[in-house]
Amino acid sequence: MGQSLSMETRIADRFKSFVAVQDMENVLRSCVHCGFCLATCPTYQILGDERDSPRGRIYLIKALIEGKSDGEETRFHLDRCLTCRSCETTCPSGVQYGRLLGEARQLLEDQVPRPWFQRLVRFGLKQGLSYPARFSLMMTLAQWIRPLLPKNLQQRVPQRTKKSISIAQHSRRVMFLAGCVQPALRPGIQEAAMRLLDGLGISGMVSRQAGCCGALNHHLGDEAAALVQIRANIDAWWPAIEAGTIEAVITTASACGVEVRDYGHVLRRDQHYAEKARRVSALVSDIGEFLARELGQNEDEQRLALHSLGMDLSASRGKVAFQIPCTMQHGLRSQDTVQGILRASGAELSFVDEAHLCCGSAGTYSILQPTLSNALRTRKLMHLQAGEPSVILSANLGCQMHLEQEAEVPVVHWVEWLDQQIMLDRQQQAIRA
Ligand code: SF4
Ligand code: SF4
Repeated sequence: MGQSLSMETRIADRFKSFVAVQDMENVLRSCVHCGFCLATCPTYQILGDERDSPRGRIYLIKALIEGKSDGEETRFHLDRCLTCRSCETTCPSGVQYGRLLGEARQLLEDQVPRPWFQRLVRFGLKQGLSYPARFSLMMTLAQWIRPLLPKNLQQRVPQRTKKSISIAQHSRRVMFLAGCVQPALRPGIQEAAMRLLDGLGISGMVSRQAGCCGALNHHLGDEAAALVQIRANIDAWWPAIEAGTIEAVITTASACGVEVRDYGHVLRRDQHYAEKARRVSALVSDIGEFLARELGQNEDEQRLALHSLGMDLSASRGKVAFQIPCTMQHGLRSQDTVQGILRASGAELSFVDEAHLCCGSAGTYSILQPTLSNALRTRKLMHLQAGEPSVILSANLGCQMHLEQEAEVPVVHWVEWLDQQIMLDRQQQAIRA
């Protein structure tokens, strides 16, 4: 690599005013360069180039802030990183690679302008995807002209559906983060989550003032735009949090859960929002984490709780494969939560090799790095389909939509699948009664 292996980082004068450079230096110092992370890094596994490994990227970032690189090479290899954080799970020294990467991307965006075409593409992605009202309007238009679209585009535009959910008012309440693209693309996911919670005596609310969690802008290195969205979400939820009327903020996409859990860190230097952000981070729960707590301490208790919701414990659910998103396993560190609920429901979970490796979706990665993304999807689907499941379940819409483009079986959010199983069981019981 030709980079300095010294632990000490001599920050170049021109970067000394960058507010997060000391945080970056602290992360750099925690890396002992052991290289354990290379074995679990998807890009290193595919490309075999150390500059496309966590350790290599750490060297490149160190050289950047020491003023030993012009930034172009660093950016090339940081752009190829999926932000999957598999390296963090593997690292024995607790290196916070994800935070280092975020700061380095921000620094590069500020200091080393991209070519105009790249800037245009990124601008289009941010403007098109991270504003729910705008995206919803675009999707409505696409649904009108759906029959005229080429087949591959038709698959990406869902059929128009009528909202059918009616939720009782309970004294226990939670706030849902609707997110940016999910309400338009797969409204059924949140509806299913709300129905399940309703059965447990909990009402789900949504604030219209809340929007995108900020992850998309963060990953594209636009910290300023992400902060606007994060503060807007906190403002939207704060009255309910302050009044004590909600007991959790629920996310149904694990990627959003990771972002919201980081609000306290992201706004730690903001004197107006630091405390509020810390409270929000403490309240956020992925729907899997929340349901697991509500259903019971172990799978036996969860089975009984699912039975009380209408699930037939004697029914066969068939073989399912669970794709555990990186944001769930490496970000939320919630490795077995959903799989426990699925087992409690009676599903037979097929073994999935290389479960720690990313599927290649990674937010806008599938658009910006299609070759690597497609290679990872092919590899992931090979493992997911090896056990011949009847359905692949996921916990993140981005992964779900990425996988379903090439999957041989349906790919469904696990919450929708669980809700459907309960509804089918109830219908069967009604027919038999
Ligand atoms: S990031 Fe962690 S695992 Fe990778 S080289 Fe550094 S200390 Fe070792
Ligand atoms: S975040 Fe993922 S792709 Fe990026 S360096 Fe770490 S393991 Fe590799």
